[in-house]
Amino acid sequence: MQLPKYSMGIGDRFAHQGIAQLNAFVAARDRGIEIAPVWNKSHREHTIVGSDPADVRRQADSAVAARGWTNPYFVDADHINMTTVDRFLDASDFFTLDVADWIGKPADENDLDRFIGRHASLLGGLEIPGIDEPLNLSEPLMRQAAVKYLLAVRKAGEIYRHIAQSRGRGNFITEISMDETDQPQTPLDLLFILAAVSDEGIPVQTIAPRFSGRFNKGIDYVGDVRQFAREFEQDLAVLRFAVERYGLPRELKLSVHSGSDKFSLYPLMYTALRAADAGVHLKTAGTTWLEELIGLAMAGGDGLRIAQDVYRAAFRRYDELCGPYASVIDIDRSALPDPDRVDRWDEAALAGALRHDPRCPAYDRNLRQLLHVAYKVAAEMGDRFTSALDRYADVIAANVTENLDIRHVRPLFLGE
Ligand SMILES: [Zn+2]
Repeated sequence: MQLPKYSMGIGDRFAHQGIAQLNAFVAARDRGIEIAPVWNKSHREHTIVGSDPADVRRQADSAVAARGWTNPYFVDADHINMTTVDRFLDASDFFTLDVADWIGKPADENDLDRFIGRHASLLGGLEIPGIDEPLNLSEPLMRQAAVKYLLAVRKAGEIYRHIAQSRGRGNFITEISMDETDQPQTPLDLLFILAAVSDEGIPVQTIAPRFSGRFNKGIDYVGDVRQFAREFEQDLAVLRFAVERYGLPRELKLSVHSGSDKFSLYPLMYTALRAADAGVHLKTAGTTWLEELIGLAMAGGDGLRIAQDVYRAAFRRYDELCGPYASVIDIDRSALPDPDRVDRWDEAALAGALRHDPRCPAYDRNLRQLLHVAYKVAAEMGDRFTSALDRYADVIAANVTENLDIRHVRPLFLGE
């Protein structure tokens, strides 16, 4: 099973927007670019919403059937580990092995020595095509990286073999994610990680490093975009090098997590990907649910009321809702509008605050991030929320498709 060159992770907390999301991929195909949709949902999300991996599979299959989509598509067990993987084994054919918790926990001394011995040929001045200067690799540097990452890769191997035992080798896509950690990984770290991945025999097709700068959920990149561009280009060069050197799968590519809404990065990524003739997996950050809220607000009446009520509850339950996402959001709490004020807003005011249009003066990145993590409130509303999704399906679907198509697919994959 092979992941196509371009793919995009799409989320759908309440399993209502399968077709609306797929429509963005149909539009891309019509414009001559093939992007594989990957429905992803993490254990954390399933727990908060009360859904099951089988629901995601059903939704993906039915959207694909309804739209007559004949190209590849996948269902991703997102951010799983050894304790959470089992419930995903039947429904998923894409597994994101999250080993970030093991970063920095050293493997035993013998294992470290063996790793360094095996990869001693990397030491000295290493030339990597696409990186201007030779990398000067010393043994202490290699040991430092091995101490940091070797055990994490070993753990990825354990999870991979566990999945392979159940599904059979070659019957699923493997992604390794190390993004949910504080310290970014340099291109050099990535090289060591891939060397270890190859030793471990994991046929990794996509890898999600922690890039420098901040990838907050649902808002633009915060950091030095020039530095990001350099790092991204070097990561691409390292991947190409590692594929050759270690016989890793040819389709191996970078996966960018919390990748939606990174508008300032897409033009740079587009250029780098074209120049390197490289693929990418862009994992969006569950922002389809925000498009649902925007659609409800635009619908007015009880739709607007629901969006306002979600905000009021989110404002009150700030700590509880933001806690699990603390490392991937950045909200200026004191700048959040008071719920009484939001109650007086009309359709356009709330939709404008929420929609990620950086040129719109009404856009409010604090309110947007808070509502991003507030889907638990909507889940608790139960039928009041989901029946409104049905009632206002048209206006919501238009927002969902437009968001993926205009704000993501076109700038990143088509350079528009
Ligand atoms: Zn992630």
